[in-house]
Amino acid sequence: MKDLAQIKGIGINTIKYLNDLGIYNIEDLLSYYPFRYDVYEKTDMNHVNDGDHIVIDGVCENNPNVYYFNKKLNKMSFRLNTGKKIYNITIFNRAYLKNKIKPAMGLTIIGKYDAQHNSIVASNLEFGLLLKPKIVPIYHSNFKINSKKIHQIISKTLESASAYDYIPDYLNKEYKFIDKNKALKIIHNPSSLKELKQAQNKLKYEELFVFMLKMNYLKSNNKINLGLKRAVDFTLVQNFINLLPFKLTADQLKAVKDIYYDLTSSKQMNRLLQGDVGSGKTIVSFIALYINYLSGYQGALMAPTEILAIQHYNNIQKLFPNLKIGLLKGKLKVKEREELLKHISDGTIDIIIGTHALISDDVVYKNLGLVITDEQHRFGVSQRGNLKNKGIVPDILYMSATPIPRTYALTLYGDMDISSIKTVPKGRKEVKTYLKKSQEIKDVLFLMLNELKKGHQVYVVAPLIEESEKIDLENVMTLYEKMQKAFGKVCNLGLLHGKMTNKEKEQVMDDFKTGKTKILVSTTVIEVGVDVEKATMIVIFDAFRFGLSALHQLRGRVGRNNLEGFCVLISDKETKRLKILTETNDGFKISEEDFKLRGSGDLFGVRQSGDMAFKIADIKQDFDLLLQAKKDSADYLEKIDDDYLKELLQVSSNLD
Ligand code: ADP
Ligand code: MG
Repeated sequence: MKDLAQIKGIGINTIKYLNDLGIYNIEDLLSYYPFRYDVYEKTDMNHVNDGDHIVIDGVCENNPNVYYFNKKLNKMSFRLNTGKKIYNITIFNRAYLKNKIKPAMGLTIIGKYDAQHNSIVASNLEFGLLLKPKIVPIYHSNFKINSKKIHQIISKTLESASAYDYIPDYLNKEYKFIDKNKALKIIHNPSSLKELKQAQNKLKYEELFVFMLKMNYLKSNNKINLGLKRAVDFTLVQNFINLLPFKLTADQLKAVKDIYYDLTSSKQMNRLLQGDVGSGKTIVSFIALYINYLSGYQGALMAPTEILAIQHYNNIQKLFPNLKIGLLKGKLKVKEREELLKHISDGTIDIIIGTHALISDDVVYKNLGLVITDEQHRFGVSQRGNLKNKGIVPDILYMSATPIPRTYALTLYGDMDISSIKTVPKGRKEVKTYLKKSQEIKDVLFLMLNELKKGHQVYVVAPLIEESEKIDLENVMTLYEKMQKAFGKVCNLGLLHGKMTNKEKEQVMDDFKTGKTKILVSTTVIEVGVDVEKATMIVIFDAFRFGLSALHQLRGRVGRNNLEGFCVLISDKETKRLKILTETNDGFKISEEDFKLRGSGDLFGVRQSGDMAFKIADIKQDFDLLLQAKKDSADYLEKIDDDYLKELLQVSSNLD
């Protein structure tokens, strides 16, 4: 895995900026694929409408005229003959080009078509005719480094670097795939859409192949590992369930039974518990921890953030006042931490809650029998190896609030068993969802005020423009100022965004949780799963920028108690798609619709949350390719020896 420092002409700062984008080595850099391309391809002018974005080329008919509005502002115009028609071209603030543009000269124009005046307002022009389409890659960028710069660095690196091809030769031959290095060159610098397609095909297949190889490997590994076999009488579990203040739903009970069966069989449990936000997965996981405790083992519950870990800790303590429960958090004093670690290793502690810190090196378990991860990345091969656990192979339960249509789930989570909670507990009120245009903002502010008057709290989510962090931040700041203007006199407001440190974020979340602030303006960094009792309303700006599942997750932040919840989606576009959310609260239905409409792009909820964040493949659009890769990787697995495979799986680490 080569170091970024080896690239000629890039300094420490650039390396840091690349790190911020998740690029740590040359392999990361080369696989930092463009998320879209701007295609300069001639527009068929027989089929254009007023206002269309167009690209044409032709020959200049006259010397340009320039009109100066003032010192800074000027307008240049000339006529362009495309061979079929003559168009009037105007372009602003390019007077310096006046003497360079001459009659009979070939030019390419990019701009907007004005049908009434048979003219084009150009946003850009290039000298020469457009002989073949030009394709410009666009990368996700951040404050410090823009798409163009990223492109330069990658292009430079491609001159000398070479990448490992994970597809075995015989498959490359069989599918007539192009060479890996050639594919990389093309993906970052395509000269035609046709070759781009070939390159994408190769790289997509490779990504899916490696993914499926891991899946198949985990699956075969599960069979080999002998799990714990416990003897626990189900009546004990039933007695506990009978004491709960509510009746478990049928799906919850079924999930409990699935888990009970796994835990008491000799097979290692590797189960996914999926269910909509608010469907009650947590209590199921607590019961799993209880069964595990009854059989004499320690249990661990891993949450994605400390805020969630604390929330779980408080809840589980109330449920099991007699058990020894520990919370491993970052802020512990050295002494406290030492003490806690000691009690984990000597077995005093029955259940330990925390973040990923639970599998760090200094945590040694006495007899960990069950690991549960909530809303978290898959717990991969290498992480399982990290568990210091006296030779015991623990059972594993994953929880996810992002329902996946069954066919896809079966393939993607092929190595796991699945329990689904499909219905939310009875009596839960649906979150009332409204769709509003931006000009109706007054109504929205009024609704917000209404909630605030009742002593409730409101989330406000800023538009998400994944293309650039800079714009994201500007958006959230502007929105915060606006909200401050509207409500500053009524209550305190909080601001949360991705550029804050963890500590700052925690403080802001804490202030909101304790009611110090009543409105929280945020980018989508609102923690998935966080419970703020009095938060009853969420307002999402430019909602069209989100997938339906992501929006559904976001609105799951409100209406979690007996208070009525409201969600307002503000959007001037794609209202037909968004309307689905006003019609149903069923996460499974919504994810199916999302799938139909948008592909898997953001099926996995809010940006960072998916373990299935493929770099180039899309599990919906490329589903056939995925099935092929699944079959091929299973065949391949039979052919190769284990050590080589382990090495391979270590090298490519986009799953773990
Ligand atoms: P999620 O699946 O999103 O993690 P939670 O487990 O946080 O959902 O459950 C949401 C709320 O529903 C919690 O307050 C929980 O106590 C409550 N709850 C869970 N199961 C039931 C049930 N069967 N009947 C009534 N309330 C329930
Ligand atoms: Mg949860």
